[in-house]
Amino acid sequence: MKRKGFLVVVSGFSGTGKGTLMKELVKKYDGYALSVSATTRDPRPGEENGREYFFITDNEFEKLIEEDGLIEHAGYCGHYYGTPRSFVEKQMEEGKDVILEIEIQGARQIRKQYPDALLLFVMPPSAAELEKRLRGRGTESDEVIRGRLKRAAEESEGIEEYDYILVNDDLQECVDKMHQVIDSAHNTPSRNQEFIDKIRDEVQ
Ligand code: ADP
Ligand code: 5GP
Repeated sequence: MKRKGFLVVVSGFSGTGKGTLMKELVKKYDGYALSVSATTRDPRPGEENGREYFFITDNEFEKLIEEDGLIEHAGYCGHYYGTPRSFVEKQMEEGKDVILEIEIQGARQIRKQYPDALLLFVMPPSAAELEKRLRGRGTESDEVIRGRLKRAAEESEGIEEYDYILVNDDLQECVDKMHQVIDSAHNTPSRNQEFIDKIRDEVQ
């Protein structure tokens, strides 16, 4: 019997290493699909349209909202970000666990609409390491970095709303742990379609 896919939200402060982790997760393990968000922010050097994000204008973003083309969306540091609906729904139907790397306002919308979604929060090993990674990435101005660190402080208020907290100290260890957590979530009764179907058959 085909295993049912569910949504996995991955949140964490900017610079924690979420993007790096996600890429490693899909490289190392089967059964995952990475959702590509739409955003109105400019691409960073090395980012490609359709790979890291769909880079679109404010007008295009607003049109997507009107057409119900996004399953969630939010404003973050002066720009819009949102998750396109069609890709996510198709991948879940095909049994994939779909990873959404999104911030907390989006995570709350997902929790409401998809009660079986798993919400993970990735933490840096320390605040100093976070700032080092954010600066080391070398893709944002000082002003943008300050804005993101301020936002990290605000977002830290919502961490308890998540199902699981992972620390991204050693990258490979964190990737393995993330896979373990997602894999074992499949076996909780509400997410284990095989188990539900078996019991249903037995009580017929
Ligand atoms: P985010 O997507 O959370 O904003 P990124 O994936 O862009 O973060 O990572 C920010 C920076 O930190 C990048 O330069 C990345 O190479 C580095 N990084 C990610 N994970 C680790 C790790 N476990 N140890 C050291 N550096 C890391
Ligand atoms: P960045 O500009 O660093 O790529 O992303 C900024 C923030 O926006 C990160 O916290 C990231 O998780 C979040 N984000 C990226 N895509 C989406 C999305 O589709 N929806 C929401 N709500 N947040 C997103």
